[in-house]
Amino acid sequence: MKATFWGAARTVTGSSHLLELNGHKALLDCGLFQGRRQQTRELNLHFVLNPAEIEEVILSHAHIDHSGNLPALSRYGFSGNIYCTNATRDLVEILLRDSGHIQEKDAEFMTRRNLRKGEPPVEPLYTTNDVEQVLPQLKGIDFGQSRSVMGGAAQTKFHIAGHILGAAFVEISYKAENGADRTLVFSGDLGRREMPLLRDPASPPAGDTLILESTYGNRLHPTREDLLHEFSDNLNRVLGRGGKVIIPAFSVGRTQEIVYALNNLWNEGKLPKVPVFVDSPLSTNATQIFRRHLPLLNDNIQEVLKTDSDPFGFDSLTYVRDVQTSKMINTIKTPVIIISASGMAEAGRVLHHLSNNIEDPRNGVMIVGFQAEHTLGRKLVEKLPEVRILGEMHQVRAEIMTANGMSAHGDQADLRRFAADVAKGGKLKRVFLVHGEETAMQTLASVLREDIPNVEIIVPERGQSFDL
Ligand SMILES: [Zn+2]
Ligand SMILES: [Zn+2]
Repeated sequence: MKATFWGAARTVTGSSHLLELNGHKALLDCGLFQGRRQQTRELNLHFVLNPAEIEEVILSHAHIDHSGNLPALSRYGFSGNIYCTNATRDLVEILLRDSGHIQEKDAEFMTRRNLRKGEPPVEPLYTTNDVEQVLPQLKGIDFGQSRSVMGGAAQTKFHIAGHILGAAFVEISYKAENGADRTLVFSGDLGRREMPLLRDPASPPAGDTLILESTYGNRLHPTREDLLHEFSDNLNRVLGRGGKVIIPAFSVGRTQEIVYALNNLWNEGKLPKVPVFVDSPLSTNATQIFRRHLPLLNDNIQEVLKTDSDPFGFDSLTYVRDVQTSKMINTIKTPVIIISASGMAEAGRVLHHLSNNIEDPRNGVMIVGFQAEHTLGRKLVEKLPEVRILGEMHQVRAEIMTANGMSAHGDQADLRRFAADVAKGGKLKRVFLVHGEETAMQTLASVLREDIPNVEIIVPERGQSFDL
């Protein structure tokens, strides 16, 4: 088996790793690079590999940095199956349709700008048509079920990763040239234990090779209890002084978690009686998919469901799909909570809410997820005094609150535990660290070298290949 790291190598986004075995080729994930527009467009546009040669894609979960370049792969010749869990398939469907629209809008925007400068029009990375073409290639399978891949030379199996609904880590078993049984484990994005909605990550099997994410390789999360207190204190402080709370949140996962936390505060009588809006058609659709897959959620939710038939809805909450209502929210002068996408404030309706509210010091912006470099969300976290939103500069006078502990990613302790579990049995030879910023990766690499000293820890560069 040969592995080549084509994305999420010394960076967080663009997850994509090529596996080759006996002349068969499969991709682990096919994500979009996100960040600076021009730079990421180049990366997303140019597949270094030939899509027509890929026989299948094994997809860890629905997030766009893992699934978002599938339509382009298909557009340029990939015609095989995309294996993922059933919930991932449902989520990918809505996320890719949304992404197709974004790609078309982005291309229109860049074309208008280019034409003004006398430069040629810009083609979208892919279109909504390309999205419709790739969707039938998605094949949902259950957690724990095996599928034969790479011309029958390998078997793949999904295990619960606890990161978002349907998220899996991947076990791939195959025979080495000498006939020995080998196991490769790909972590995908790893979640955390005792999360509000999701089941705990499963224990991984022993493996010979581990490809491990490292988003929070240099961080430990605060406990959840502190977090919920802080969340509720922050809300009450801002609303209490007459401000609005804007929460940029990923449509899938974070939005439902926030809504569920608010739902519990509501049930306990601890949520001020202010209107709450989930202002995003995508988040609204994603919540429907959570409702469809309730059995995948943890025992807490199963218990809550006995008395509260909808943990994603309460009296003061409104889900907003249409543009009119979204605009109406901006005319409200009294305190209100607005949850809107995108999660890193790069696109979507949250930009309007931010541009309308960020200059008022009574308001608060709550950052509840990982913010990649160069994104607006990251600039807010870094407390820049001025930011550009929708083409205009704004003074940042609203209070910026960060609740990083809400992350859907495990912290350093979770990642170390996962690696130690794969090392059990003593056959683990190499760990490849992916999906992290350089400092997080190097820190994780050095602690892993102490934890599992007989294992080689590698931080691959983009395009580097290894014989496993
Ligand atoms: Zn993810
Ligand atoms: Zn990711």
